[in-house]
Amino acid sequence: MRVWIDHDECAGVGVCVDACPEVFILASDGLAYVIQGGQIMGRNEVAVVDDSLGDSIMDAAEDCPQDCIYVEA
Ligand code: SF4
Repeated sequence: MRVWIDHDECAGVGVCVDACPEVFILASDGLAYVIQGGQIMGRNEVAVVDDSLGDSIMDAAEDCPQDCIYVEA
């Protein structure tokens, strides 16, 4: 499963982190980033994550107030 954030739209706050802390983290710039294998990815970069996290990732995407989380199966 591929997950990424459009950082031109992310407003911070971290609803995604609450929904799925295994994949999303708030960085010191106030924006959320995706995590792949323990590594925080860069701006607009894609993380490839385990499909078992799909439900919580979809919760994050649906709850994101900016609709800026993208998921590809
Ligand atoms: S929920 Fe959306 S807008 Fe909020 S921090 Fe996460 S990606 Fe950014």
